[in-house]
Parts: sequence; C-alpha cells; structure tokens
Amino acid sequence: MTTRFSFSLTTTDGAARSGVIDTPRGQIRTPAFMPVGTAATVKAMLPESVAATGADILLGNTYHLMLRPGAERVARMGGLHRFMNWDRPILTDSGGFQVMSLAGLRKLTEAGVTFSSHVDGSKHFLSPETSMQIQALLGSDIVMAFDECPALPATDEAVAASMRLSMRWAQRSRDAFGDRPGHALFGIMQGGVTPELRAESAEALTGIGFDGYAVGGLAVGEGQEAMFGVLDYAPGLLPVDKPRYLMGVGKPDDIVGAVQRGIDMMDCVLPSRSGRTGQAWTPRGQVNIKNARHQDDPRPLDDSCTCPCCTGYSRAYLHHVFRAKEMISGMLLTWHNLHYYQQLMAGLRDAIATGRLDAFVAGFHAQRAQGDIDPL
Ligand SMILES: [Zn+2]
Repeated sequence: MTTRFSFSLTTTDGAARSGVIDTPRGQIRTPAFMPVGTAATVKAMLPESVAATGADILLGNTYHLMLRPGAERVARMGGLHRFMNWDRPILTDSGGFQVMSLAGLRKLTEAGVTFSSHVDGSKHFLSPETSMQIQALLGSDIVMAFDECPALPATDEAVAASMRLSMRWAQRSRDAFGDRPGHALFGIMQGGVTPELRAESAEALTGIGFDGYAVGGLAVGEGQEAMFGVLDYAPGLLPVDKPRYLMGVGKPDDIVGAVQRGIDMMDCVLPSRSGRTGQAWTPRGQVNIKNARHQDDPRPLDDSCTCPCCTGYSRAYLHHVFRAKEMISGMLLTWHNLHYYQQLMAGLRDAIATGRLDAFVAGFHAQRAQGDIDPL
C-alpha cells in the first residue's frame, strides 16, 4: 500500500491513454468514470453497491457539503470517507462551479465569492483559501483548485479576464493546500474555446505545478462538437505524466470521444439522475422505461448485462415500479446505469491496453446505431 499519490501511464493508443493512479486509499484505473455523490451519497445506492459496479473513486460536492451538514461536522465524524462509509478514493470539487451558477445570489471579487445558501439563505464566503480548508476538513483524496467558470457565450475579453483570475486563484490554491502527503491537488485549465487562451492557461498551471490537471469550462452547454474541438488540442497542452480530468462529462458518446482525445478521468450525474427519471443507458442507446411498449415485455433491459437489475427483473417490472413511483425503480435503474458506465470504461481501458481502440469505438457506435431492441 502506497503512502503517496502517483500516476503511471501504462499504454497509449493514438491520443488515448490507460494507466493507474495510486493513492493510500487504493488504485484508480484510468480512464476512470466517477459517480457523483453530491450530498455524501450516490442517490439510491449503498456505497458497497457503487463499489460493486466497478467504481474506484467517487466525487463529492464541496458546495453542498459545506452548507449541509457542514465541513466541520463531517470532520468531527471522522471525515467524509467514514461519514458516508466509502473507504476508496474521493475527489471533491472546489465549490466554485455551483457558487458561480447561483447568478443572482453571489458577489464576485478578487478575494473570492460571497453567496447566499440555497438551503437557508445564510451568507457564506468561498475563496481559494476557504475551499482548500473545507476540502481538507472533508478529507478528500483529490482536491480541486478554486476557479471561476464564466457563463457562455462570452466575449474573448471576458473569457481571458476570467481565466487570468482563475490562474491567480490557482496559485493561491496551491499555496493554501500546502504539503499533504497522500493527497493530490488538481489545477483547472480555462480559456473557453480559444486555443491561445487555453495555451496561456496551461502554461500558467504547469508553472505552478499540480498533481493532475482538469480541462475546465466545458460541458456547460457548448455542444459536443465545440467540446471535442477543444479536446482535439487542449489535453496535449498538459503534462503527459499527470492525470487529465474532464469535469461534468457526460453521455456515453461524450465519454468515448473524450477518452479518444486523451482524457483520463470524468464525472457526471447523468447515470444516477437518469436512473431516477426512468431513463436507462445500454450499448444500444437510451431506453425510456416509462414507454408503454415495455409493459408486457418479459425481457431484461439488456440481456448481455450482468447487473442485478438485468439478471433479476423484466422490462415489464421496471415499467410497473416506475409508474407506481416505487423506490426500487430508481435503485434498479441507477445500479444498471452505473454498471453500464463502468463496463464501458473497462472496455475502453482494455481496448487501449491491447491497441484496438479504433475497432472498439467503431463497435460502440455501430451497436448504438441499431437502437433499442424491437418491441415484442
Ligand atoms: Zn444491467
């Protein structure tokens, strides 16, 4: 068992990479998908069920946890791992993204952001220093630098000014993080869709020096084509020997495209959130379990899937429990969706390791093009 945080790149296939992140809390196989445990729970899942889907790491939200139950309380309860009964690695975001999206409820200065809680209206202040302090109280293994995310569309001048503020905050995050062996601090590249600004941001971050680097400011409604446009060059601006994290992505085809372009880590609420709204993801695309076509269908969601939902329950049952608003509906679909996402990541890792990523990606798209199985 290591006492340090480290990343080993094992294989590349084109721009795609497979590797392993070692942490004192265990290994993270990359490319990795991180389920989102916003409020110290991946909704509708026991932590051991999340682990059973194959997740090596999950994500917690600083903004939500600092407001409720409070970072000091989590620390008194032994830290976030003990509190939520998850002993594998945890990454926490900086709180910046959520605070910035509270448009009318926040005030931004060089020092940081003052905002009102969506829970009880109380006033709070987040800055590089307070975000580092909160993430340390939570005890997360991978800490994210505090940054600003400009709302798009924005002018080049606005994106540049925002990026430069984020780079000053990146230095303050690095200084405030200090020396915490076994814990990692990731910097976040900004710069919108402008290559020169992305390059300036990458240079500023690598000058400061981080344990990993995120490509920020994407997956905010710019569309897949614009996102892939940035990912065609942005990962290549970052150090080869550090993990690269694309925040808030995504749909299965976003994930595949990002991995092809050199991304090592991703997170998204999509598999768990869509599980609670009757949406399932399979190798053949999206399935809407609400649809009446499923009500007499004895077949599983996906007959090739080994998750408890697909091995134990019919589409007819899943349709029924969704319509009846039974809790097991969200539980089964979330489990299936997280299992599918982890199977996809395992397939990508294996394809990169064996030098056949192109064939894997072609198969992925061909299967989706077929659409869901025909109704009975
Ligand atoms: Zn399944």
